[in-house]
Amino acid sequence: MHPSARLKCFRGCEGVELELTAPVYRCPRCGSLLDVAHDLPALQSRSAEDWRALFRERRARPGGSGVWDRKELVAPELDPASIVSLGEGRSTLLPARRFGAALGVPDLWLKLCGNSHTGSFKDLGMTVLVSMVHDAVRRGRPIRAVGCASTGDTSAALAAYGARAELPVVVLLPRGKVSTAQLVQPIASGARVLALDGDFDACMRVIDELASRGVLYLANSMNALRLEGQKTVAFEIAEDLDWQVPDWVVVPSGNLGNGYAIYKGFQLLRDLGLTDRLPRLLLAQAERANPLYRAFRDKTAVTPVRAETTLASAIQIGNPVSAPRALRALEATNGVVEQATEEELCLAGARADRSGLYVCPHTAVALAATEKCRRAGVLAEGERVVVVSTANALKFTEWKVRYHERAIAGVDAALANPPLELPADADAVERALVG
Ligand SMILES: *Cc1c(COP(=O)(O)O)cnc(C)c1O
Ligand SMILES: [Zn+2]
Repeated sequence: MHPSARLKCFRGCEGVELELTAPVYRCPRCGSLLDVAHDLPALQSRSAEDWRALFRERRARPGGSGVWDRKELVAPELDPASIVSLGEGRSTLLPARRFGAALGVPDLWLKLCGNSHTGSFKDLGMTVLVSMVHDAVRRGRPIRAVGCASTGDTSAALAAYGARAELPVVVLLPRGKVSTAQLVQPIASGARVLALDGDFDACMRVIDELASRGVLYLANSMNALRLEGQKTVAFEIAEDLDWQVPDWVVVPSGNLGNGYAIYKGFQLLRDLGLTDRLPRLLLAQAERANPLYRAFRDKTAVTPVRAETTLASAIQIGNPVSAPRALRALEATNGVVEQATEEELCLAGARADRSGLYVCPHTAVALAATEKCRRAGVLAEGERVVVVSTANALKFTEWKVRYHERAIAGVDAALANPPLELPADADAVERALVG
């Protein structure tokens, strides 16, 4: 078996077939997005049983990676010596029955992708992109730097993996729109951090232009390589559920690459006979940055909006690069789109935390959307739902603190639990505790 993979036109232009390391991010013929296409017959020459046994065996090995455990399905021809890994993937799929029951979804699971090296699921895609660049550099290709525009998590991941591979990293950030905790990661990893006067979409335009001038290699998710790593979330979910595909997978969505990546992962599993169906996708957006939601609701094309400030900063994107990809994923999975207001996401997050979880605002958007869809009957009673928890909530301490201080304007912090200040006196403490 010698599986291979090439970059092809997402819209299917004939004859467009590029090496995965080609510094080309759009179809040379039609200008649309690119997609990594795998040699399916080669992969299908191994039986489903053999694939399962292989994954099981690799997973038991210490020091591995949930992405590279499935290298054949991700970047089959990459020289293993070029892999740049920080132990990404292999994250917990956590049942949340009690909290789920409160949402009307007792068969609720959270895929804790935020329990990862840089604290978000962006590590999954970044290990693939940086490994491919590392490979190209080892073969003598002149790549001066890798760069991205980012609201935080992408830059944190790129900077860490770049540092690991000794590749120069350039990060463009919207000035004043990223939390200190997020900004400090690329700084600490040694990246060149440039804070631009503008929003995320403006940073995106600048990085895109620099990449097309050949100044740097583009690491944003327009780059199809990232999605190959992100799709392994689907592999892990399916394997953890003993190859029983859940009814729904819920993904907080901004630039819209991940919804597509997760669909692509499930599609590949089905093509290989490892599973027998696709889950339905529920893509969850913040109401303040909801171009996909509007398009879905109004049955129109996705039109860019000006993204307003939302607590869910990683999905605060008004002009999503991967909109065509997400639309295809929705179509193929009979998917839906729901949105959450700031108030709704705060309440969902606080309730989740009260059940022993500790969720980031994006995961809170996904949980709020899950509950709304259940109430509307879109999610049927008893269906199994997996929510992709995308970042570690420890990156969003400011949000938690402000919520519990009741300091978020316009949000009624009904579950705020501020500390009680008392004298250092046993009687006073006892009175406070037992009333
Ligand atoms: C990137 C990101 C998302 C959204 O992924 P898209 O592909 O941009 O839709 C959601 N949550 C977190 C924490 C992220 O970093
Ligand atoms: Zn094309």
